[in-house]
Amino acid sequence: MSEIEHKVIIIGSGPAGLTAAIYAARAELKPLVIAGLNPGGQLMQTTEVENFPGFPKGIMGPDLMTGMMEQVKRFGGVIANENVISADFSTQPLTVKTETAEYKTRAVIIATGAEANWLNLDSEQKLRGKGVSACATCDGFFFKDKAVAVIGGGDSAMEEATFLTKFASSVTIIHRRNEFRASKVMLKRAQDNPKIEFVANVQVLEVVGENAVEGIRLKDNQTSEEKTLPIQGLFLAIGHTPATKIFKAAGVETDEKGYIKISNQTQTNLPGVFVAGDVADHRYRQAISAAGAGCMAALDAEKYLAEQE
Ligand code: NAP
Repeated sequence: MSEIEHKVIIIGSGPAGLTAAIYAARAELKPLVIAGLNPGGQLMQTTEVENFPGFPKGIMGPDLMTGMMEQVKRFGGVIANENVISADFSTQPLTVKTETAEYKTRAVIIATGAEANWLNLDSEQKLRGKGVSACATCDGFFFKDKAVAVIGGGDSAMEEATFLTKFASSVTIIHRRNEFRASKVMLKRAQDNPKIEFVANVQVLEVVGENAVEGIRLKDNQTSEEKTLPIQGLFLAIGHTPATKIFKAAGVETDEKGYIKISNQTQTNLPGVFVAGDVADHRYRQAISAAGAGCMAALDAEKYLAEQE
């Protein structure tokens, strides 16, 4: 195995990937983290994380991720800010290609997470970056004293709406059903916020505006009545899609929603290819569960490598 510089390559740099890297580095596997062009994952776009154990007063998402990256480097892990463009897992050594390099390795941990979903209306796509966003923490600042809406009925919608009240004059949560899948505590926090209103059981027909968002056209699911809500900003919080396209092409099995199938905790269907975090988890999707899975994947990769040697 002497020609291999990094015995483990970790693809993705959220809590799953970086925790895997900390464990792999401490096991002296010299891991390479291919971190993407914006390292740190989803928590880089979050404000305060209140539920990561060990931070009783909370910690800012970017601070948590920067700390994890420093911890990886402290133990000799290497972080490359590149995107993976293809992979070949059919033979050993495994191959991972980026825009600028081709890496050979003995084990891979896929921790690429999941990307925001869109309604995929033409009017929505036309106005992306012109008032339509899928990241309140990135773009909320631009909507000071403006009326905005958030689409979705999950924890993300409640969190983003609550966050947006710091800037916006009003926030309307728009949801397609009457029931909310958000946790009780987060739903209540949004309901108790005087700046937040709810419009439930509606379908979004169109985002109104040519070069900027001016409103959103809605249809009531029960009465079929249509109305336009005047807003200047629209935030999507309707879930995520796992980033698995490249790995599917390399023969990694996924389920019907595209999440990587796992067996025996962190193993994919391919020898030497492990997985951790949201890319294989549509159930928990928490930073702490992703970090735990990253730890497990690194330990499994270490055991696999020891058996191979
Ligand atoms: P989610 O729980 O899957 O909720 C997505 C929401 O978007 C649902 O209300 C869904 O409606 C709606 N939706 C999906 N597709 C839609 C479409 N095409 N048109 C209109 N509405 C659509 O996703 P999430 O809120 O991003 O949360 C993901 C996970 O992260 C959850 O486990 C959540 O608990 C966790 N999370 C935790 C925190 C926290 O604890 N701080 C913060 C954010 C997220 P239906 O309900 O009708 O399906």
